[in-house]
Amino acid sequence: MSKPRKVHIKSFGCQMNVYDSHRMADTLAPAGFSETANTEDADLVILNTCHIREKAAEKVYSEIGRIRVLKDAAAAQGRPMMIAVAGCMAQAEGKEIIRRAASVDLVVGSQNYHRLPDMIARAERGAKLVDTEFPVEDKFAALSAPRRAAIRQRGISSFVTVQEGCDKFCTFCVVPYTRGAEVSRPVKQIVAEVERLVNAGVREVTLIGQNVNAYHGQSEDGAPATLGKLLRRLSAVPGIIRLRYTTSHPRDMDHDLIRAHGELEALMPYVHLPVQSGSDRMLAAMNRRHTRDDYLAVIDRLRAARSDLAFSSDFIVGFPGETEEDFQDTLALVDEVGFAGAYSFMYSARPGTPAAEMGDQVAPESKAERLQRLQAAITRHQRAFNAAFAGRDLDVLLEKPGKLPGQLVGRSPYLQAVQVMAPHSLIGQIAPVTVTEVGSNSLFGALTDETRVPQLAAAGA
Ligand code: SAM
Ligand code: SF4
Repeated sequence: MSKPRKVHIKSFGCQMNVYDSHRMADTLAPAGFSETANTEDADLVILNTCHIREKAAEKVYSEIGRIRVLKDAAAAQGRPMMIAVAGCMAQAEGKEIIRRAASVDLVVGSQNYHRLPDMIARAERGAKLVDTEFPVEDKFAALSAPRRAAIRQRGISSFVTVQEGCDKFCTFCVVPYTRGAEVSRPVKQIVAEVERLVNAGVREVTLIGQNVNAYHGQSEDGAPATLGKLLRRLSAVPGIIRLRYTTSHPRDMDHDLIRAHGELEALMPYVHLPVQSGSDRMLAAMNRRHTRDDYLAVIDRLRAARSDLAFSSDFIVGFPGETEEDFQDTLALVDEVGFAGAYSFMYSARPGTPAAEMGDQVAPESKAERLQRLQAAITRHQRAFNAAFAGRDLDVLLEKPGKLPGQLVGRSPYLQAVQVMAPHSLIGQIAPVTVTEVGSNSLFGALTDETRVPQLAAAGA
């Protein structure tokens, strides 16, 4: 029997890290580790890091400094605390992290965290360990499955990684270096994981991958499967109500996936499709391998498959060489598509990527100014999108208690947060809600017809 200990895991960055953090906790559970929300109580603190922009990496070093103080205080009380750095920054910086921050005991890359129990046992004997090799074994097959109690505690909506890595090499991006080449999990493994989640109460699954629509796993019959085929298979899992996927690349939006949007009731009508820029000159310099027109054609094809589809995107402003005219093309694209939401970032030069070596870097103040203008345009469209729902009925998947007593928060099909007064017993169910008020970050509504709720839940159960 392993000695009981506590682990605190802090995730930085994208949903893939949230998923990895859960899987780390699952894999440490058989070694006696239970999760704690308090860093102070932990015997092991894992920082699951991001390296996508410079700020993300800086944040981690300041967090290590904060935890070092707790580690020293615990040591003074005769209680050892171990610090592990995992994820993309661990993968990119390796032993440099221990050189810069001597309080760190372990560095484990994004492909190796299934080896954590063994690494911890070795580090407890005093070794400082760094493991950032890309392993030959299947990480996912080696991870422990989540326990039912852990799934329930994480809520009714869950991420499942189906694809990792990227072969696209956009000139600004570290992902191909930190996550490695594109790899897809087999359909059978994903179905088993989704069935396990659904049996423990999960109702919505978001399939995730750096390039999720490049998915090319093996089907149960041995043939290659696309993301469209995987979604069809998962929509047949009894109990699943909603499916989503993110993040997609415009080039990999194939016919089968587009058709799935018109055919699968469980597939939600909200697609995150990063474009990065509206300027063909910038798209070429970014090595995106699509033009502005290609992107708009994909949006048109998706809308033809399902007319109520809503879109979100990612944008980078101030990529090397970006002129005011290029930026105007981006603003025009935002108006043309009318995104329901979008993330936007100032270009951040990342060591080792081609764009970091390009001349004509944009001045920080121009980047900041463009970001502000872009965000104002995105917010305008987001508000207009939300405002159109006033007085309308929406099916809301109720997720958890809201801020006010008696209130629940859920998500609309378009991923809008919806606050509604409803009994706790409805958590995990789809409720028809009439939107009564549109706030800046969420919608407010009232249950439309409570008698419909059990029927809808039964249909999905
Ligand atoms: N695979 C996705 C795609 O092709 O768009 C995106 C993955 S990346 C983790 C998420 C977003 O971070 C990107 O879409 C991009 O907007 C942003 N990003 C990546 N590298 C960046 C950089 N060097 N500077 C600023 N933003 C960056
Ligand atoms: Fe990065 Fe996405 Fe480009 Fe891959 S496709 S290099 S993950 S931005």
